[in-house]
Amino acid sequence: MQLLEERIRRDGIVKDGDVLKVDSFLNHQMDIQLFEELAREFERLYHGCGVNKILTIEASGIGVASITAQVFGCPLVFAKKSKTRNIVGNVYSSKVHSFTHDQDYNIIVYQNFLGPEDRLLLIDDFLANGEALTGLVDLAAQAGATVVGAGICIEKAFQPGGDKLRSQGLRIESLARIKSMSVENGIEFC
Ligand code: 5GP
Repeated sequence: MQLLEERIRRDGIVKDGDVLKVDSFLNHQMDIQLFEELAREFERLYHGCGVNKILTIEASGIGVASITAQVFGCPLVFAKKSKTRNIVGNVYSSKVHSFTHDQDYNIIVYQNFLGPEDRLLLIDDFLANGEALTGLVDLAAQAGATVVGAGICIEKAFQPGGDKLRSQGLRIESLARIKSMSVENGIEFC
């Protein structure tokens, strides 16, 4: 999506360790007008797929997922991160390794909020190694929900998550796909 690629070129900052900082418009300060354009694009891509719920993961996915839910006219559920090891009670839970913080945590969703009647669109700001999406797919499977696909703002296509999950049959639509990036040479899109 040209609009997003232009914004990444203009305001994205490449950091060491394959990290792209986009916190001036995506995950700290949020450009809601841009989010609306991204959400409309997700809706165009998944139009007619019967999506009745958006699922994302806290915290940085919540902003764009909220606007996406508004455009789809459906609820948004976000998986909460929990440091507690022993998860008990009426929750679905899955273990996720954080790319940005290099640590494991559990994600949980109350069982009331996901079920077999749900047709889910998974939304996240980034796709890197695919851990976050894998965790969300796992929660959906525990609930017996259908995953229609995933909508990603920025896929770092030089990292393995996208290929891995697509090869497992997950539909992934990424609005910007980065082929390579470095502090010295900047960003190249696919
Ligand atoms: P994955 O689970 O696919 O390895 O990583 C995706 C998650 O890590 C996203 O939810 C996002 O919050 C975070 N993430 C991965 N790569 C980046 C990055 O380059 N920049 C930022 N800001 N977050 C990232």
